Amino acid sequence: MNVLFASSEAVPFAKTGGLADVSGTLPVALREHGVDTCLFMPAYRCVYQSGQPIERTGIYFDIPIGSKLVSGHLLRSTLPGSDVPVYLIDQPQYYDREGLYNENGRDYNDNCERYVFFCRAVVEAIRLLNLNVDVVHANDWQTGLIPALLATEYHTADRYRSITTLFTIHNMAYQGQFWHWDMLLTGLDWKHFNWQQMEYHGKLNLLKTGIAFADTISAVSPRYALEIQHEPIGCGLAGVLRDRQNVLKGVINGIDDRAWNPSTDDALAAKYDVHSWRTGKAANKQFLQQKFGLEQRNDVPLIGSVGRLVSQKGWELVLKILPQWLRSQEAQWIVLGTGDPTLERHLRTLAAEFPQRLAVQFAFSDALAHQIEAASDMFLMPSQYEPCGLNQLYSLRYGSVPVVRETGGLADTIIDLERGTPEAPANGFSFVNWDPSHLNRTLQRALHVFYQSPDTWAQLVETGMRQDWSWHASAAKYVELYRSTVARRNQIQTAFG
Ligand code: ADP
Repeated sequence: MNVLFASSEAVPFAKTGGLADVSGTLPVALREHGVDTCLFMPAYRCVYQSGQPIERTGIYFDIPIGSKLVSGHLLRSTLPGSDVPVYLIDQPQYYDREGLYNENGRDYNDNCERYVFFCRAVVEAIRLLNLNVDVVHANDWQTGLIPALLATEYHTADRYRSITTLFTIHNMAYQGQFWHWDMLLTGLDWKHFNWQQMEYHGKLNLLKTGIAFADTISAVSPRYALEIQHEPIGCGLAGVLRDRQNVLKGVINGIDDRAWNPSTDDALAAKYDVHSWRTGKAANKQFLQQKFGLEQRNDVPLIGSVGRLVSQKGWELVLKILPQWLRSQEAQWIVLGTGDPTLERHLRTLAAEFPQRLAVQFAFSDALAHQIEAASDMFLMPSQYEPCGLNQLYSLRYGSVPVVRETGGLADTIIDLERGTPEAPANGFSFVNWDPSHLNRTLQRALHVFYQSPDTWAQLVETGMRQDWSWHASAAKYVELYRSTVARRNQIQTAFG
């Protein structure tokens, strides 16, 4: 089985969120299941700065974009620790920029063109590199045009005829919507600009395009795959997804358990495992308390948060309860994130008022993300919706007890203390209702257990640390999806000659 993985970001080359973690690790995990993989992504400026070895292939190509021809070049690298080839689509005018999708909070105004070029270049590269591909695995709106190109322009061409497609949705909220004239950039016939394929309320929608044309669709957790078939989590496309529910599946993401392992993590002040977490976490906590000027106390719980500062992550609820917590509760908070400037302002004001209880850092820092997971006692993710979420999985591994809202991947991975069973033991705290009082009560419960029932707390920590959320099981599920997609295509081809 040969799988071509197409993504707009992948670690260690370029990352803005969880998609990069998945794209940089799943292709390697698939190799361990006997699947031959390669990865395609754009050669952004940060790719050259990533320190990874990059070769020129000498393969140049021209892509029609609207009425012009745009040339590109293929670069080659590999995913670290593996022989998975990474093909980087080089086109400096599109990709040699400060950001991936935006700069200073504003999306690049030629994003449609940039990713139409990427999609067309990936499809052309199959021919240029002589690749045998059974499945193209596309991800999110930036690659949504690929299934459409394969199903329309390329479906009768040699080498392309038997290629099937899987389109994975990492977040319905980002749809790649552009004005209707951008349809000209795609090069596809206007007949596809209809409500069942590429059009959404008069606009070109590249997420919908991927959903409409892919042979199989997946979402990054089983719960999210169900939730997106209803509004508001379907973000306007619930009906389109319900129409395709027979080919829509949910597969939970795995984590890179080599990069996220507290017993080998060089970013930590002290390494530890499930037997030594008490002393290990205490040393990491002391390190961060010192670094950020928090009161130096191990007996007070540290509540950590790492992620994009956007409303999706539940900040609306947190900000309603945080001032009161800072005033009256024996707990410390540490927040690492970038995003909404208004949220940053609120948090900065609170941190200035309560410097011993709240530390904030508005930056993207992988090392600090690791240090927070190791130092914190609880990890907060009260998301409004959460397709999968990786941070709660890192938290489990690092013995930081997740406090989450029961949605998407959080619902699939975190079991509340009161609902644990011998088969599915509790590993955190969760609440259902999108309401600050429910978040407040859940945090109070966690705090109570932390202070009053250290044995129960230790059990939660150790249960999480012993669980295996690596890619092994999830990669096997993707292999099943690839197999069933190819088998369905073969049946159709046999039936229709
Ligand atoms: P999402 O994909 O919605 O952003 P996930 O939890 O699935 O959320 O994945 C986010 C990934 O990005 C995690 O690996 C997280 O550690 C990382 N991350 C997000 N913001 C930051 C930041 N400011 N500094 C370091 N890592 C971050």
